[in-house]
Amino acid sequence: RRFLMEQLGKVLSMARRRKFMVAVLFINLDHFKTVNDSLGHHAGDQLLCDVAERLRQSVRDTDLVARLSGDEFVAVLTDIHTPDDAAVVADKLIDTMRSAFTVGNLPLTMSPSIGISLFPGDDTTVQGLLRCADTAMYHAKDSGRGNRQFYQPGMDVHATDVLQQERQLREAIASNAFVLHYQPQICLADGSLKGFEALVRWRHPERGLVGPDEFITFSESRGLITPIGRWVMHEACRQLKAWQDEGLAMVPVAVNLSALEFRQRDVAGEIAAVLHATGLEPRFLEIELTESVLMHHTGQVLETLNAIKALGVGVTIDDFGTGYSSLAYLKRYPIDKLKIDRSFVMDTPQSADDVAIVTAIIQMGHSLQLKTVAEGVETAEQKELLHRLGCDLVQGFLVSAPMDAQATQRWMSPQG
Ligand code: C2E
Ligand code: CA
Ligand code: CA
Repeated sequence: RRFLMEQLGKVLSMARRRKFMVAVLFINLDHFKTVNDSLGHHAGDQLLCDVAERLRQSVRDTDLVARLSGDEFVAVLTDIHTPDDAAVVADKLIDTMRSAFTVGNLPLTMSPSIGISLFPGDDTTVQGLLRCADTAMYHAKDSGRGNRQFYQPGMDVHATDVLQQERQLREAIASNAFVLHYQPQICLADGSLKGFEALVRWRHPERGLVGPDEFITFSESRGLITPIGRWVMHEACRQLKAWQDEGLAMVPVAVNLSALEFRQRDVAGEIAAVLHATGLEPRFLEIELTESVLMHHTGQVLETLNAIKALGVGVTIDDFGTGYSSLAYLKRYPIDKLKIDRSFVMDTPQSADDVAIVTAIIQMGHSLQLKTVAEGVETAEQKELLHRLGCDLVQGFLVSAPMDAQATQRWMSPQG
């Protein structure tokens, strides 16, 4: 970073004297974290070296390439004539990343998001140019990743948006402005209710109910996931216990835990405390984890999962099949259920490939004594296929969309 700042300073004073244009490209690799999470840091390091090499080969000798941090690189194009020159280089960079890298014998492709700032048009200082390029990079991410964006003055507004959303989320946490919706899981063999998944929503003052896809990742990045996750766990257990006290819902509730929550908190200790406080029996609680959790710090993950199992709480692998996962963890960790990701279910029974994948997951699950749940089941044909393949449970719009607590209670109560 220091070298980049020094060199960029020199390039700028030269450009000032000779009156030429300089472009700063802020390059961030999309989904690099997934590589680290699933293949390990060693593979991640190797990939970064290979990426750096390709970046260097795509620019001229007089240009600069530096790595700022993690998966962030900066390229400085020292002598260009028009913004188009910068665009051409950026497109070339995106293109060179498209041919596969070989990491630990696996072919991987990378897509970079690139933000571009220009001297002297956008700013005339080292700091200012880097900031503008960084801002533009975020816009590239927002517009679907794997593309490049030039800095534009209005883009900074984004920064205040982030602050505003963070403030609103903090207020939401303080005032408990969240609700849980519940989606039933049904036994394919006899149609009986076998459980609910709790899904969080934010009651936004202006926008109404906001779905988790719009705020969970954001909360993680702003360090706000812990209080939200704690509230969800407590509320799901409290609600289920209340239903059970009325003689409804003698089935478990499944709560989603993001990888970050799982790693940062004493999850087992907190779950024990919540079960104690709400009086819910442990066998009526399940947690849903994505594969990325299991690829990390084996020892600690195993310890936590064993502690959760020891409480009597169930463990489900969510979105199964979507991570770059090794299957070794299936026998290493105490897991009860595999949840077949919606993306595999969606195009069945038409897509032969997807039918093959779903078949394989169900068979493997059974050989390993794991129950299988298919999510996102929307049609009778899908349900019929899953039944035939021996899948245990289904969840999806065909049975019911997620419902608020009142509607869930009506859904459970015998028609009166
Ligand atoms: P997920 O765990 O895969 O949850 C299933 C999502 O699929 C839910 O979206 C649900 O409404 C939707 N869905 C259910 N059935 C169908 C169907 O038949 N067709 C289609 N197209 N969609 C269906 P939702 O509620 O927006 O949740 C999105 C994601 O947010 C969840 O994905 C989960 O990863 C995360 N999430 C939800 N609640 C929590 C929470 O309390 N904590 C954490 N950490 N993450 C949560
Ligand atoms: Ca889930
Ligand atoms: Ca899913």
